[in-house]
Amino acid sequence: MSSVLQQNSPPAKIDWPALGWAYLFFWYFSGIHHVLLQLAGATIFAGIRQATIASTLWLIPLLLFPNRTRQISATIGIILYLFSLVSLGYFCIYRQEFSQSVIFIIFESNAAEASEYIAQYFVWWMIPAALIYSAGAYFLWRRIRPLCLSRRTAWILVTLIMLFLFAYPNYRLLRHSEFSTALAAETIEKRMEPAVPWQIIFGYTQYRKQLAGMQQLLDQNNSIPPLNKFKDANAGFPATLVLVIGESTNKQHMSLYGYARATTPRLDALRKELAVFTQVVAPRPYTIETLQQVLTFADQENPDLYLTKPSLMNMMKQAGYKTFWVTNQQTMTKRNTMLTNFSQQMDEQIYLNNSRAQNSREYDSNVLVPFNRILLNDPAERKFIIVHLLGTHMKYDYRYPTEYEIFKNRTGLPDWVRDDQVPVINSYDNAVLFNDFVVSSLIGAMASSQANGFLVYFSDHGEDVFDSPGHAILGRNESKPTPPMYTVPFIVWSSEKWRALHPRNFAGQLERRYGTSHFIHTWADLAGISFDGFDPSKSLAGKDFKERPLLVGDPGAQQALIDLRTLMPVD
Ligand SMILES: [Zn+2]
Repeated sequence: MSSVLQQNSPPAKIDWPALGWAYLFFWYFSGIHHVLLQLAGATIFAGIRQATIASTLWLIPLLLFPNRTRQISATIGIILYLFSLVSLGYFCIYRQEFSQSVIFIIFESNAAEASEYIAQYFVWWMIPAALIYSAGAYFLWRRIRPLCLSRRTAWILVTLIMLFLFAYPNYRLLRHSEFSTALAAETIEKRMEPAVPWQIIFGYTQYRKQLAGMQQLLDQNNSIPPLNKFKDANAGFPATLVLVIGESTNKQHMSLYGYARATTPRLDALRKELAVFTQVVAPRPYTIETLQQVLTFADQENPDLYLTKPSLMNMMKQAGYKTFWVTNQQTMTKRNTMLTNFSQQMDEQIYLNNSRAQNSREYDSNVLVPFNRILLNDPAERKFIIVHLLGTHMKYDYRYPTEYEIFKNRTGLPDWVRDDQVPVINSYDNAVLFNDFVVSSLIGAMASSQANGFLVYFSDHGEDVFDSPGHAILGRNESKPTPPMYTVPFIVWSSEKWRALHPRNFAGQLERRYGTSHFIHTWADLAGISFDGFDPSKSLAGKDFKERPLLVGDPGAQQALIDLRTLMPVD
């Protein structure tokens, strides 16, 4: 009877409260999770915005079939509710967002491990919390009533929602004639991902896709023949060699390199034990692109060699080391397929960061416990450990706990720094200070373990934190290169035993201008390894070192390569 009435005399106005309750009901399942993530300071704001937008999708069936409002909303609600329990449960345990990396970890570890974890983290309050959450959903569902609109208004709203969700995000693509359905689908997927159930559904499909990509890279790596005429001067001797790869740390912000603020007090105190190289630069201002060269024989002139020649990881395995990859960087994102492939070339992997967004809160102190465990408990006589840090990556204030919030005003900053730049520089310097704690703790752990070997630390690339003339640049941009984006800290620490067995004098070498794209030769030289293709003139610590142009830029566009020396001050 009422539906007949509606069709004969459609109400002139939209029933906004009904629409509002329905929307709130659907938003609830994604929104609560994101509000909690925000309150916990776990991630950036984009997630909550995207989840809020994506939740409008579920209004469409309600608008189209008002007669079935309760059944439709109940069905969608139950599905969203069940998915949201997974992400909320994950949040309760880890205070982090559910992501495809989590799925990767779940499938990598066995069921027993996973249930042990859950048992360990289960707390009594989770039960009442789940009950309150469920009661909230039921309360909202009870408020839902049919959206009484004329068919015409309903269709207009549906069209607007569709345009908003699917066409608007691709508007820019269309304008730049880069449009393809795959690209459009990816844009939409990215936008929908923070909301349930897409978080888990897309997370799983992406996990499958990246796993396939990674497997392909690994298979390719497995088919590469080993290095020829391989010689290891230390063959048979126990040794622990450690490579610590930092992230976005600009040496100009380290007191170890003369910065006015005491941002690296612990490394400063260790200075006598360190070889501090001062003129080292990264080839590219991005993690993957740089490490693709740093950890392989690829360089700016031969950027594809990482696909056809053994990597540093392969080399160390060939030398008989047991190899470990400990990382606080994200595990399984589209960008990180290459990194995960590198990590899988090692014997053991320890993945410590499962965030969806790189800009999530995660502290590098995560690496210390597994690092110590490998040093002290693993029985292998020869170990090669790569520790990959999040370092001082944006967002800077997510990189350090509150005890490290030391730089709070403009003390120690030059006069030309603008007031609005001060908080950013302060948080970056606090992140450098925490990085100092992490790197020096790794050195300390190595020293107290009595391991025989050395540790090399450098950052994958730098970061411009208003350091350039003009002082307005923040971050990195390959098309507008400035030295702070590329100049990196580079230090070598050796154990007493190692120094006694391998006396080296770095004194005359510390000012050498060097690009980390040739790092594999430096590492081989330090480790006493040689082979067909080893070039001692490309070793930073080599007797026959030869200075080369410090090429930076995208090697895909050779004319875009420039010699960074032309931008660096002569000293
Ligand atoms: Zn990086």
